[in-house]
Amino acid sequence: MTLHIPFDNSYARLPEGFFAPQKPMRVARPSLIAFNEALAADLQISGADSADLAGIFAGNIVPEGASPLAQLYSGHQFGQYNPQLGDGRAILLGEVIDLHGTRRDIQLKGSGPTPFSRRGDGRAWLGPVLREYVVSEAMHALGVPTTRALAATRTGEEVFRDTPLPGAVLTRTAASHIRVGTFQIFSARKQWDKLQTLYDYTVSRHYPHVTSPTELLQEVIQKQAALVAQWMSFGFIHGVMNTDNCTLSGETIDYGPCAFLDAYDPNKVFSSIDRFGRYAYAAQADVIVWNMAQLATALVPLVEDTDTAITEFTDQIHAMPDLIRREWVQRFGRKLGISDADQEDAELIGDFLNLMQRENADFTNSFRALTDGTLADHLTHRADFDAWSDRWQVRRSADASEIMAQSNPVIIPRNHQIEAMIQAAVGGNDAPFHRLNTALAKPFVENRDYVDLRQPPEQDEVVQATFCGT
Ligand code: AMP
Ligand code: MG
Repeated sequence: MTLHIPFDNSYARLPEGFFAPQKPMRVARPSLIAFNEALAADLQISGADSADLAGIFAGNIVPEGASPLAQLYSGHQFGQYNPQLGDGRAILLGEVIDLHGTRRDIQLKGSGPTPFSRRGDGRAWLGPVLREYVVSEAMHALGVPTTRALAATRTGEEVFRDTPLPGAVLTRTAASHIRVGTFQIFSARKQWDKLQTLYDYTVSRHYPHVTSPTELLQEVIQKQAALVAQWMSFGFIHGVMNTDNCTLSGETIDYGPCAFLDAYDPNKVFSSIDRFGRYAYAAQADVIVWNMAQLATALVPLVEDTDTAITEFTDQIHAMPDLIRREWVQRFGRKLGISDADQEDAELIGDFLNLMQRENADFTNSFRALTDGTLADHLTHRADFDAWSDRWQVRRSADASEIMAQSNPVIIPRNHQIEAMIQAAVGGNDAPFHRLNTALAKPFVENRDYVDLRQPPEQDEVVQATFCGT
């Protein structure tokens, strides 16, 4: 049975100038590493036993109904506006309507050069492909809005970075790949018709109830505020929150140099290219406001009365930090078993985080130990914890244990385990990759088989820096 993907490609129907038609590049020896059958079923993809899977998801076979293309966008990278980016190593095959009626993009990443590749080779190596597969699926299992991984293949070809590395292709799905940078490019180029077309498209695809740019901005602000608070609640650091990596749908996208906190440290940076800590753990709450200000700026020309637009958008941006704080308090409140935390709980939460920082305690395991009632046994500053705990008891909800068990994962994709998994796969052993995926699919469940995945890194295992790996 051949694979059937029920494409319905709305982006390809947009007028000229939004994308460049582009077929994926043929590769030497495609072989399948993983195919996400549960996700495929959700996307109404059938015939998943097909022998063509490797050929399709490495880009050698363009499936029937696909309209392969590279999308155009621009964006601010580390605060600097780059007037043209675009899919330089990604190709949108097309869209499908999933079982819930939601339109979802299917995109190959690492599938060869496009007109937007600039100096890049359009390819990906195995490491970032497997990292994105594992981490995006783990984020989904944690309940975080995210793009997802449908397949990973080896190309059978080498990709040259500093050294030759095995080439690979990731197939991911997304609510869409519309980025802040997609709006920015048409706005910066003063292509008002295209800006309006993109606005209409985005509204009808994601926010059909929206009736004005002000309302669209508010929807995206709300989604992104919630998203960043959720990232922070799991110790997630995106690492490259450029405006081209910031979606209108509110999904997490582009898992490059991302990482999870081991020990709690608000200033933690992993990404090797983030030299000034612009995208440090705690800075994410500030930089998302900056990103939304760029979206607002791009939307202004859509409003007839410019002064009114600027006043309204400015108010919305100024209100965003409070919105993030509320989302943050809610998320971290639940981690402490407080069902409806308010601003007054911020101090209690902050004091707990400070305690953890002073103990150099593992972020994920501390919250889980607090959930299990075993945290005090591990601490040096016991008296301080006891004093904090007295205040905490007063605020805990009646169903605190359940709330905490649902909010504090047992396992997360730890950086050192991801690195070890990649090393194994480069050596031809995919078992750690598959094991991580299986374990991370149920992050809130205690499972004896995966006790090792709960361990923080030993001194010599600590990942100091992550790389875009492009
Ligand atoms: P990223 O920081 O990974 O989101 O990518 C930023 C821009 O660089 C996007 O336009 C990518 O398509 C492009 N890019 C990254 N890696 C490559 C590559 N290997 N070949 C071509 N373009 C790339
Ligand atoms: Mg990107």
